[in-house]
Amino acid sequence: MSITAIVGINWGDEGKGRMVDYLADHYDVVVRYQGGNNAGHTVVNDLGTFKLNLLPSGIFRPQTLNLLGVGVVIDLEHLCGEIKRAQDAGVSISPQNLRISDRAMICMPFHRWQDRWEEERLGAAKFGSTMRGISPVYGDKAMKKSLQMGDLLYPASRDTHLERLVDWKNALIRSAYHCDPIDLDEMKQWLDTYGDILKPYICDTGEVLAQAIAANKSILFEAQLGALRDLDYGIYPYTSSSSPLAAYAPMGSGLPSIKVENVVGVVKAYSTCVGEGPFVGELDDTQGERIRQAGGEYGAATGRPRRVAYMDVVATRHGVALQGATELALTKLDVLSCLEEIPVCRAYRIDGQEVERFPYTPLLDQAEPVYDVLPGWHCDISNVRQFSELPKAAQDYVLYLEKALACPIRYVSVGPAREEIIVR
Ligand code: GDP
Repeated sequence: MSITAIVGINWGDEGKGRMVDYLADHYDVVVRYQGGNNAGHTVVNDLGTFKLNLLPSGIFRPQTLNLLGVGVVIDLEHLCGEIKRAQDAGVSISPQNLRISDRAMICMPFHRWQDRWEEERLGAAKFGSTMRGISPVYGDKAMKKSLQMGDLLYPASRDTHLERLVDWKNALIRSAYHCDPIDLDEMKQWLDTYGDILKPYICDTGEVLAQAIAANKSILFEAQLGALRDLDYGIYPYTSSSSPLAAYAPMGSGLPSIKVENVVGVVKAYSTCVGEGPFVGELDDTQGERIRQAGGEYGAATGRPRRVAYMDVVATRHGVALQGATELALTKLDVLSCLEEIPVCRAYRIDGQEVERFPYTPLLDQAEPVYDVLPGWHCDISNVRQFSELPKAAQDYVLYLEKALACPIRYVSVGPAREEIIVR
């Protein structure tokens, strides 16, 4: 039995999905434990290219059981669409290989709408939300107003919760956003239409996991986003509304008593960030554009261009510590083949002082990157499968990071496809 979490070390989009797809073969159960359809995992395998927002990335492995845990928020309409698209592409999905926690929250259409109204209200001060309703639904969860997936199985209780929720929401909407009220019948219709499709998948994921543990099965936790987006430990308020940390994986799965044994931290070979908030060393020049083009840095969920910077050791070391990473996967090393030399941010300069520890969020606005500049390799490395066959400069880049981050780099990926990876 092995219990592993695959987590993001930075701002998200590190390539977690491809690592879950790669490793899922060795695990019996894959669990998504937080977040909603606000971020996307891109998986490239023999069935095609998939942009998964909610489905666990283990869905492509026929023997793997996939769970959406307690900590996830689910837009029913979106999930139905995602299942259908995957099925149309030849992926087999049924309650045999996908289960949804009865305690996961339902992200309603008005959560999406509220997300948009709030960004419009904020104007220039907007957060850069993905407009998928994630912060409104997590907010309502904390206010104890949301619906859980299990409510779909109990229509009377579902309708009581929905009526209370819509009544409260309408009071808020009228005063804050001056919008038309939410139509209760329309929402019931929406729940019927998509809820009926998903009902067979709903279960107590805690029981499923307890049985898996009793049968000595191996479990892989799949996070969304990265450590710097954690609601408590990230760059608040430019965070997500959930916890992408490995420590939260058992909580968000359905069986809080599970002990995570291995934490694979996924780190991109350079930095990217979507949305607003501080981002030290942001490259808004031609170098940044070169990396963005070479890395295809456009959001999987929204298509938005990602902000780009060189590797930030200060932020990454912080992410490694927050995640308790036992090993790292360094992704997209091939993208850096486009550079003649490769700066790495080894410290920040704040008020004239060099700082190696990630500072409290408002100080990030004053932080200037301090770079070490490493030689580039400037050739195609996407066919390399052995570490020793990488150009010396590429090996040195990996070894430099391994030392600076004080964590073994076990995997180095050199292309998006499943087999484009070096295992050390
Ligand atoms: P995730 O949310 O952490 O799974 O990351 P995303 O899927 O949002 O973004 C990662 C992107 O990089 C996807 O388009 C992947 O196909 C792609 N990718 C992953 N690993 C590599 C790699 O080693 N090289 C290249 N060129 N692309 C990669």
